[in-house]
Parts: sequence; structure tokens; C-alpha cells
Amino acid sequence: MTKKRHITVAKGDGIGPEIMDATLKILEFSGAEIEPEFIDIGEKVYLSGETSGISEEAWESLRRTKVFLKAPITTPQGGGFKSLNVTIRKTLGLYANIRPNISYDPFVKTKHPNVDLVIVRENEEDLYAGIEHQQTPEVVQCLKLITRPGSEKIIRYAFEYAVKNNRKKVTCFSKDNIMKLTDGLFHKVFNEISKEYPQIETEHWIIDIGIAKIADTPQDFDVIVMPNLYGDIASDVAAQITGSVGLAGSANIGDHVAMFEAIHGSAPDIAGKGIANPSGLIHGAIMMLVHIGQPEVATKIHNAWLKTLEDGIFTGDIAKGSASVGTMEFAEAIIQRL
Ligand code: NAD
Repeated sequence: MTKKRHITVAKGDGIGPEIMDATLKILEFSGAEIEPEFIDIGEKVYLSGETSGISEEAWESLRRTKVFLKAPITTPQGGGFKSLNVTIRKTLGLYANIRPNISYDPFVKTKHPNVDLVIVRENEEDLYAGIEHQQTPEVVQCLKLITRPGSEKIIRYAFEYAVKNNRKKVTCFSKDNIMKLTDGLFHKVFNEISKEYPQIETEHWIIDIGIAKIADTPQDFDVIVMPNLYGDIASDVAAQITGSVGLAGSANIGDHVAMFEAIHGSAPDIAGKGIANPSGLIHGAIMMLVHIGQPEVATKIHNAWLKTLEDGIFTGDIAKGSASVGTMEFAEAIIQRL
């Protein structure tokens, strides 16, 4: 028997425990060779007085397993609490955030039946670098940090991703018409690195028209690389136009550790109702299985998930008014199709 791969798992806040229980059940029945180690992060830990939202034992598990399947967490509003998502990405050096968006037409209703794009988002720098100050009681400041090494790393990752995944085009989004130095550097590095990949088509859009084009003609895009904040916003738009923000999963890749999650948040408005769509986290888990060398199980789960949609079984966000099932029923339907 194969030795099971230990992974660190956090059930998170809001709808987190519901979608994680559904995902773990699918993983269990799929034959995935994994052994979850559970850690607490998020609200419970913040409220215990740990302002980072994560304990030392949890870090120890992450450093040991090097693979993290994470449900969304709620960052408490107000001063004094750090964003745990940002802390995890920066502490573990998870520099690349990969967010694929695909339409599943005709099974999932969408105005855009031909979406198949991947957002590669820089994950450690930009306005998320955490350099934010209170200057005076009435003036606050957040500094935007873009470095050449950080830009080179993410842009090269995007081109390598395109080559490995048989993608034809890499697009860069930036706002260097206004932020000439910071976004200017990102764009300049893109132009330099693109020369190393003559087989890949390249283009650049200013972020505002770029996101507008994602919303209007998403089929024109393939791989898109961009700084941190733009990537966060653009990927919610890209996921939503495929039918629901609840569909997309995401991989956060570093040189030593990788984290997999849904792109959406903890959805407090529907938490505890058992109606959340677990698909985003399931897609995160599928990316995790490929990462840890279990691609056959990943394909098996993906096919069962597709068959579930083909058979007309949907959670409420996708059913949009017609008959729908709850989170765990949806997972059980997938398990029946494994
Ligand atoms: P959200 O993504 O949680 O919710 C936005 C809307 O989408 C809500 O109407 C919600 O019901 C719906 N939605 C989201 N996921 C869904 C799913 N799986 N199935 C069905 N509907 C779904 O965004 P928000 O409301 O802006 O944020 C809520 C909390 O989540 C905040 O505390 C925020 O900081 C946190 N957050 C966490 C992460 C993360 O942990 N990775 C990411 C984003 C936001």
C-alpha cells in the first residue's frame, strides 16, 4: 500500500466547515492517498487573543507537511488584526496565485460559454505588502511595493505555466499610465521576459479596460499575469461570469510550500444553512492532488463533478431559482459518480 501523504487542513470560518467537510468526504471516497492534520485558524484563534489568527503549532504542521488545504476565513474588522491570508502567503513565500476560470456551458448558466482563462496573480507584493500607516488622525497611507525580483519570478512563472499547459498567449495587466515607476517596472519586466518565449503570443492592457474586456469578451484571454490587488479583483470577475464565484479554486505556490483553496470568502450571509457551493474548494483540492503527484485521482474527482452538473444537480448559486441541493447532498452526488 502507498504511504499516505500528510496534508494540513483548516476548516476556517463561515461556510468553511461546511464546504471542507463536503470536500474531505469526496477525497475520502475517491481513494486519494492523503492523511489530513487539522489546525485551527481564523476567528477562533483571533478571539483567543492571538492577533495573527494562527498558532505556533499550526505553523509547525505547515512547515512539516508543506501542503495546505484551506477553507476561507473571516478577518475581523477593525485595527489590531492582521489579515491571516496575507500573513500565510508572505510567511510561507507563496509568490504565485493561480486561478483558472472555465465555463461549463450548457450545464452552468452563463452569458459567456467559452471562458477558459487562467489568472496568475503576484501574491506577496503590491498594496498587500502590509506597509500601511496612520500618518495623523485624519490621514492614512498604504505603500505600493513592486520589486524587480518579485516581478521576474511571477512573470516567468506565467510564461512557464503557459508552456507546460499548452497555452498560446500571455497577457499583462498594469496601470503604468499612472503608476509609472511601480506598474511601469512590472510592465517593463514583462516585455523583457516575453522575449525569452518567442513561441508565446503576448499583449498588454491597462487594468481598467483589461477587466472590462474580461467581463465582455473573456474568450479572448488565455493566461493573464498581474500585480496582487488587480489579480484579486479580476479573478472574482472572471469566476462570477462563468456562473458563480463559488466555482473557482486556486493554488498558492511557493518554492517549498503550496496552499490550495477556493477563491471566494467565508460567505457569512449563507453560513450554517448548508447551501454553499463546495465546488471552489473541490477545485482547490483537485489542484492539490495534481501537485502531490496523484493526478489520476484528481481526474477521477473532476470527471465525477462534471457528471454531477451534467445530470442537472446544482447548489442554489448555480440553480438560480430552479431546484437545488445542499452542500453535502451535492458532495454525495459526486461520490456516487466516482
Ligand atoms: P464572499 O466571497 O465570502 O461572498 C460574496 C458573495 O458570494 C456572498 O453573497 C456569498 O454568499 C456568495 N458566495 C461566496 N462563496 C459562495 C459559495 N461557495 N456558494 C454560494 N455562494 C457563495 O465575500 P465577502 O462577503 O466580501 O467576504 C466575507 C468574508 O470572507 C470577509 O471576512 C473576508 O475578509 C473573507 N474572505 C476570505 C477569503 C479567504 O479566506 N481566502 C477570501 C475572500 C474574502
